[in-house]
Amino acid sequence: MAGPRIGALPREVAEKVAAGEVIQRPGDVVKELVENAIDAILVRPDGMDAPVGPPAITVEIRGGGLEFIRVADDGCGIDPADLGLALARHATSKLRTVDDLEAVRTLGFRGEALPSIAAIAALTVISRPPQEEAGAFAEVAYGETLERGRRGAPIGTQITVRRLFGNLPARLAFQRTPGSEAAHIAHLVAVYALGYPEIRFSFVVDGRNALTTDGTDRRGALVAVHGPDAAQAAIEVGAEDGGVSVCGLMSPPDLTRGSRGDVLLLVNRRPVQNRALMHAVIEGYRGFIPDGRFPFVVLDITVPPGEVDVNVHPSKSDVRFRRDRLVYGTLQRAIRQMLVATASPPAVSAPLRSPPEWLTSPAANRTDTPLFPSARVEAPMRAPHLGDPGPLLGSLARLTAEVRPADTATPSPGASVAGNRLPPMRILGQIQNAYIVCEGPDGVYFIDQHAAHERVLYEGLMRDHGETAAQLLLEPQVVEVAASLLGSIDEHRQALRDRGFDVEQFGTRHAIVRSVPRGVRPTGDLVPVIASVIDALESPSAPTDAFDRVIATIACHSAVRFGDPLAPELMRELIERLEGTDIRAFCPHGRPTVVRLPALQLDRDFGRR
Ligand code: ADP
Ligand code: MG
Repeated sequence: MAGPRIGALPREVAEKVAAGEVIQRPGDVVKELVENAIDAILVRPDGMDAPVGPPAITVEIRGGGLEFIRVADDGCGIDPADLGLALARHATSKLRTVDDLEAVRTLGFRGEALPSIAAIAALTVISRPPQEEAGAFAEVAYGETLERGRRGAPIGTQITVRRLFGNLPARLAFQRTPGSEAAHIAHLVAVYALGYPEIRFSFVVDGRNALTTDGTDRRGALVAVHGPDAAQAAIEVGAEDGGVSVCGLMSPPDLTRGSRGDVLLLVNRRPVQNRALMHAVIEGYRGFIPDGRFPFVVLDITVPPGEVDVNVHPSKSDVRFRRDRLVYGTLQRAIRQMLVATASPPAVSAPLRSPPEWLTSPAANRTDTPLFPSARVEAPMRAPHLGDPGPLLGSLARLTAEVRPADTATPSPGASVAGNRLPPMRILGQIQNAYIVCEGPDGVYFIDQHAAHERVLYEGLMRDHGETAAQLLLEPQVVEVAASLLGSIDEHRQALRDRGFDVEQFGTRHAIVRSVPRGVRPTGDLVPVIASVIDALESPSAPTDAFDRVIATIACHSAVRFGDPLAPELMRELIERLEGTDIRAFCPHGRPTVVRLPALQLDRDFGRR
């Protein structure tokens, strides 16, 4: 039995397909060719011989894909008589009428990819449907057919693309580095490998094997992409509501990522980037993982075909739903239910003991002699039981305002502190694992531990940025990074180094970190710090502004967190560093660091004055 035949789309259909400049970068070619290969494997008509073992797709690139891309499959092949049509615009075997567009099941349907690629590169196709003795061959370079013929070939299709953008020097000049593009393509291939676990994928970069999946099941593909530990820990999801189903694998709460790059959602088996779906996933995880961390998921969302419009985006990567709320709700509930069902009781975390190097190195205000060494109270302070908390809370609210710069011009009499400097203080304890409570000469101080530490680090980093800011790691750290981030690391390598990060791409899934800015906890998870520094670098703003933001970002990531129990030594260390800083000191993001309850105010509130 023959494979599906190709036909030119009638004009009214061609006009309806959301066209666009499909090929902007080598990754776009890989995406189109891999989608064709998947279609060729899955849309194999009944009765066509299946290959022995799982079907296979091999992707090979050189020079970041600009030099060479080859995608080979063992799918249905192209009928030799149709090869010319396959390379013509708006010719497809996947769509015939406008009605078909309502229920497309294939990844491709516009009949645009092959001709678009052949117009801007040298493209060769060799294809052999199973029932044919030999393959058909065509070579087209920059829109011109060079050769056609028959030749021996394995079953399936091999498409090779060389010298991409060779006729478009301007486009060529704006391409990313080969390493960065290879990382992007690695991410793409991983997406399809996870999305189509029944297909064996191999990905070869510059002659080196970068990824191989075994064509078994989703957990098998997860082993290849995220490693055996992540694959083993992944939670299975299955839920159905009103004709919408969600099924796949998701990370447990203790396995998180620094970016949303590993959230993979497929709608009717099409990988999509949809903000609302992404939001539903993040909402599903809310409270289970820290803000700013992301899960990895591979979820198939199945919707009745007539209820989803796949024709809304030129690269077909977004979709629209008829019953969108039902889809988002089902997704969010599916995730939440699994998290609740598998959650273990929260562990009691031990207080942080002082890791002095990272706390102390960028000391803003070093005081070597403790000021109230003997008077330290280590027992946690109890909240007073007040019948009417009104006046006390009232004063606190006023005080919060008091430390803002706008108000410092006219400080209230009770709140004035000589020179706006924080006085020496006696530590009373920590409350809510978030605030350090101290007594100073004229009142009680509440110090936001995270903001304060951030401030101390920030000032230190601002002072010694540049080369001196780097601390060489004793042993370079190899960290796992999402492919999208790897590309950015490659691109911003120098800028990162200028800020103390010596980070370099290491294979297709890892980066190697040799130094971090002083003040950054070298034992912590470095990936989110690097990711947010890149975010800050990429955000369009004045350079000095951007630098400031990078420093603030580093400080924020390295500081003790709101909610970390602190050992007394660590509190003391922090307060010593803070004593003598400006009381207007704000955390670099603009929240106050210190709130003071003046002694005078306390007396007033108790009716003593
Ligand atoms: P579309 O995928 O939108 O149909 P393409 O330009 O990508 O358009 O491909 C044109 C046609 O060429 C497809 O409809 C299909 O019939 C055929 N084709 C492309 N690649 C393959 C492949 N790997 N195996 C079998 N047929 C293919
Ligand atoms: Mg296609």
